[in-house]
Amino acid sequence: MIDLFKSIAAILLMMNIGTTAAQEASLILKNARIQTMDATRPTAEALAILGDRILKVGSEADVIKYQGRDTKIIDAGGSFVMPGLIEGHGHIHGMGASLIELNLMKAASWEEIVDMVEQAVKKAKPGDWIVGRGWHQEKWDRKPLPSHLGYPYHQTLDMVSPRNPVMLTHASGHSTYANAEALRQAGITAKTASPKGGDIVRDPSGNLVGVLEETAQGLVYGVYSKWMSLKSESERKAEWQRSIRLAEEECLRHGITTFVDAGSSFKQIEWMRELAAQDRLKIRHWMMVRSGIESLKKQVGVFPVMNEGKGRLTVNAIKVSLDGALGSYGAWLLEPYSDRTGFMGQNTFSVPELREIARLAWDRNIQLCVHAIGDRANRETVDIFAEQIRRDQRKDHRWRVEHAQHVHPSDIPRFRAWNIIASMQGIHCTSDAPYVPKRLGEERAATESYMWRSFIDAGVLVNNGTDVPVEDIDPFANLHASVTRLTTNGTAFYPEQRMTRAEALRSYTLDNAKAMFQDNDKGSIVAGKLADIVVMSEDLLNCPENKIRSARVRMTILGGVVAYRDTDF
Ligand SMILES: [Zn+2]
Repeated sequence: MIDLFKSIAAILLMMNIGTTAAQEASLILKNARIQTMDATRPTAEALAILGDRILKVGSEADVIKYQGRDTKIIDAGGSFVMPGLIEGHGHIHGMGASLIELNLMKAASWEEIVDMVEQAVKKAKPGDWIVGRGWHQEKWDRKPLPSHLGYPYHQTLDMVSPRNPVMLTHASGHSTYANAEALRQAGITAKTASPKGGDIVRDPSGNLVGVLEETAQGLVYGVYSKWMSLKSESERKAEWQRSIRLAEEECLRHGITTFVDAGSSFKQIEWMRELAAQDRLKIRHWMMVRSGIESLKKQVGVFPVMNEGKGRLTVNAIKVSLDGALGSYGAWLLEPYSDRTGFMGQNTFSVPELREIARLAWDRNIQLCVHAIGDRANRETVDIFAEQIRRDQRKDHRWRVEHAQHVHPSDIPRFRAWNIIASMQGIHCTSDAPYVPKRLGEERAATESYMWRSFIDAGVLVNNGTDVPVEDIDPFANLHASVTRLTTNGTAFYPEQRMTRAEALRSYTLDNAKAMFQDNDKGSIVAGKLADIVVMSEDLLNCPENKIRSARVRMTILGGVVAYRDTDF
């Protein structure tokens, strides 16, 4: 009975009913146009924070009551304020590494990339690996000649880097470009057989092009890892920590307070836990473990990691990639590609092993997140999910299909039926659009590709992210893509599939929080939730459409502390 009184008193205290003196806020944000993402109170003028939680949301008069002697006051100057953004699917280490290695994302041509490699070779020691990421043959302003499937030949790289091995990863992460030295070290010749789930690309005369697709990347990545392992663990850890720190700083500049990492090793989880224990994480992380069944069984005791490092690290999800990406012909399709005769893409992970992982995840209440891009991969994933979910349909599992990019129309209702989350990336649509009809033909492009409107209308939870470093981390370019589907040439890719602005904002906040079981703590501005808040330069719900993309973050508050402030604000 006493406990009951205690909890009623605690609730009254939280609601500030029946207490005489209001609690003193540590921070008050006022003169703001707050979009709370809370249906019961969609907008507000001010909010008060105590410690790392929101204390009160409401009118200025409501909130000012919480001002005490030591309360810090921030005048938002009428700015648009929203919950801290959540990157719903990215790769934190890959993002950090892309800030250190050669960034090929903006290269307009293959020649430009060769120049960048040449400069890097000049600074490198003999034998050092030259590593870069972000090239995309469909995004160059001219076709390299000679070329095969749009890929240039490795000889162009050999001329600038005859002795240093070069490894350049495709923007999608699903293929890798290697020069002759890297191919030599990996033991790849024109006669080497392609591994299962991958392709050592050869032209019709059987010559090596230099491109390794999907699992074939492992051949070169393996020798690179061996070279890396010559460094001491502390050296590697220090490099890794540097990449995490750079990525976190970049996130805060973009208003991202939580980052969903779509696949790290147990070793990397261990290193993250060290950072958490030392209070060195600058943003909140929610991580999926990428691993095979054997090591999952051995290390399943690691799950769950819940809110370690003062709420900065949670690990209770498993990532499996069942296929590759469309750009690199890795999406596993029901019917062949329209621009590669008879080719159905790649199945990059054993289906029976995924089935076993699904059983383990279900039994242990671990979220399962499966990368599926092609319509075949999506169908297989839903089949495997359904086998487990039908064991207890009432269970709140929140299993996710990562990307759900090309889905046969008959499979969309199955996402709803089994309560499966479509973890999509708005920016992938506008970025891939120029080559989607080429790869899939007009019909599949129109009826299967990036169908987020159809998913939402069917009642499926659609969350959002950038898949950084596949795309830039910029959430505003992504929100713009989600509500316009405008490609760089100014045409909209099947605009009937657009999201509304409110849906897009929700996908980046509350729906991302739901997709990670953290909507009790994040995703909306409500008393009791974590004080993760963003102050913006533009009203994202009402500004002209083209201003969404150029919107700037004025301030990022994380756990009640100002973690980033624009110098102009
Ligand atoms: Zn990814």
